[in-house]
Amino acid sequence: MDTARPGAHDDVRTTARALATEAVHAGRDDLARQGLHAPPIDLSTTYPSYDSRDEAARIDAFAATGAEPDGPPVYGRLGNPTVARFETALARLEGTEAAVAFASGMAALSAVLLARASMGLRHVVAVRPLYGCSDHLLTAGLLGSEVTWTDPAGVADALRPDTGLVMVESPANPTLAEVDLRAVAHACGSVPLLVDNTFATPVLQRPAEQGARLILHSATKYLGGHGDVLAGVVACDEEFAGRLRLVRFATGGVLHPLAGYLLLRGLSTLPVRVRAASATAAELAGRLAADPRITRVHYPRIGGAMVSFEVLGDPHEVIAGVRLITPAVSLGSVDTLIQHPASISHRIVDAEDRRGAGVSDRLLRMSVGLEDVEDLWADLDRALGSGGAGPSVRRLGEPATAG
Ligand SMILES: *Cc1c(COP(=O)(O)O)cnc(C)c1O
Repeated sequence: MDTARPGAHDDVRTTARALATEAVHAGRDDLARQGLHAPPIDLSTTYPSYDSRDEAARIDAFAATGAEPDGPPVYGRLGNPTVARFETALARLEGTEAAVAFASGMAALSAVLLARASMGLRHVVAVRPLYGCSDHLLTAGLLGSEVTWTDPAGVADALRPDTGLVMVESPANPTLAEVDLRAVAHACGSVPLLVDNTFATPVLQRPAEQGARLILHSATKYLGGHGDVLAGVVACDEEFAGRLRLVRFATGGVLHPLAGYLLLRGLSTLPVRVRAASATAAELAGRLAADPRITRVHYPRIGGAMVSFEVLGDPHEVIAGVRLITPAVSLGSVDTLIQHPASISHRIVDAEDRRGAGVSDRLLRMSVGLEDVEDLWADLDRALGSGGAGPSVRRLGEPATAG
């Protein structure tokens, strides 16, 4: 029985396949031969073996490098065949050797920090803004790390002998600020660059091609894509993946197999969802930029389905005013969500640091879904109301600018 790495049979990979093809086939290459079409869900927590000498040897082999054991995974915390299908598929989409899945995006980032700290490399260089909890995890030093915040141009100067990681998000949450990944990767030298690629997804950006060693996703967002799975994943080379599997085994932040199944299913529509939502988002960004109730629109050059904008009036009134759009944190679902970062996603970041990172108190972040653009615009238009257009609420008076 060939259960070592479900979906990882590479005999069919004689030629490179396009992203849209990988999205529906990667992680499933073995299915037809098994007489299956939909991937099976393996809910086992343990895997029987009558040969405990062999099992001991397999555990030793795993403990040495974190390489996935040949044959069944021994125990569910060591690995799971359904989750492995998702990992194989995501690695293909990001163009890396491997990927390691976790219970959430934050569990994935924690494993990276622990993997580095266990090698004595506790110092992290990071560029703001990052997702609020990532910022908090680094700033609070919860996992024993010490952070130096800098801008992309300051990365090289911020490196120390104990620097284990450089971390950036691009486009960043919530301002959609973009980082020149190639330039930062160059500045990192031998220090691994981690790019949080949650917003761009591999459909719009493949950081490994630009020199990133670690690509982080909150798979809760676009990869799952339907707002019903909490998950995280790191795409990287096999050596680093081994270290992450060892941390995952020791600390337990594993992904449930049902979540692995849903994520693999989510990947199959990822390119279609991201392209469709991005087209709608670009149209909405253009309309917002021309609207006198909006003082600034943030929309990245690489595109995407996220739009952030600063309102002339009270952002809380816009949140209270939406009817079709859901007022909720998170992003990347099939339906459109809007939230106020200063109140929710970035609340945990010190207000001064938050503003310093360009997160204005007037900023709203919208994750555009798959609804019709006119219905979305009608809802936004109504929610914006007189939104600062009248003389009594005109406070900022800046011209509307895109960028
Ligand atoms: C949501 C998010 C995270 C955290 O992921 P969880 O799955 O919520 O733990 C990390 N980075 C970015 C950019 C996010 O949007």
